[in-house]
Amino acid sequence: MNSSQAAPAESSAPPVAVHKVLTGQKALVTGANSGIGKAVAIGLGQAGADVVVNYVADDAAADAVVEEIRKSGARAYAYKADVSSEDQVAAMFARMMREFGTIDILVSNAGLQRDSALHEMTLAQWNTVLNINLTGQFLCARQAVQEFLRRGVVPSVSSAAGKIICMSSVHQEIPWGGHVNYASSKGGIKLLMESMAQELAPKRIRVNAIAPGAIRTPINTSAWQTKAAYDALMTLVPYGRIGEPEDIARAAVWLASDHSDYVVGTTLFVDGGMTLYPGFSTGG
Ligand code: NAD
Repeated sequence: MNSSQAAPAESSAPPVAVHKVLTGQKALVTGANSGIGKAVAIGLGQAGADVVVNYVADDAAADAVVEEIRKSGARAYAYKADVSSEDQVAAMFARMMREFGTIDILVSNAGLQRDSALHEMTLAQWNTVLNINLTGQFLCARQAVQEFLRRGVVPSVSSAAGKIICMSSVHQEIPWGGHVNYASSKGGIKLLMESMAQELAPKRIRVNAIAPGAIRTPINTSAWQTKAAYDALMTLVPYGRIGEPEDIARAAVWLASDHSDYVVGTTLFVDGGMTLYPGFSTGG
């Protein structure tokens, strides 16, 4: 794919995981009925984990993800909960303890944008993004860590007492005018993740983040749906193609597995080189 071509059709990607590196593990993925979270949930299932598919709207889409996970032999169910609600998050984890008995992997992925120029941004737009993208990660991590600490390491399952993967963004690094609420939430996730990692590593809990670049999902259709938009986007992506949700899912499976057992407090950028500041390749 080069920048003179329009956006390709949805990929028919090969399976994200071909080895059952997560057999016996229990995972919760938030915002798992669309885009990146959907691919991550299916990928974790292909890797052998049982998966809770969290979502907040669109029952049918969540059920379809559950069906897809079950095809790989893993257990799965959908659970509707708003990650910014303390009560709903607590109830979601209580149900998971009843259904699956424990949690080994949390992928805090739910997120959204409410874009506006700063001078026109409402407090509601600010609060919605911070509450879901950042506070939601705190609420889910707190619940997961309580269970990780209670249970500790089970060596036959994993070398770690638990793994948390925070879905961040290249905008934890790259300032983003017109999106100050979103960029602030992702900047917050960076230090939430690193501080949790520092605090919890002695308990053998691994906390890491993935920072996607431009991934083809419903959150950013305006950035890739037309040829003009896609070509403009490619000026920001040295690798010359948009990312697919499966690119993120493969990273998530690795970060959740013992293959990354010595990876603690790291942000893995999966961005086709977007954070290499390609505008400086010929100038600056
Ligand atoms: P998406 O819109 O396809 O998916 C977002 C998911 O979050 C949906 O399932 C939605 O239902 C869920 N969600 C929203 N509010 C929620 C709430 N209150 N409670 C529970 N779930 C809720 O978008 P996506 O691109 O798949 O985004 C997933 C994550 O990846 C987000 O955190 C986003 O910031 C991040 N991200 C995406 C890109 C990209 O290019 N697509 C780039 C960087 C980071």
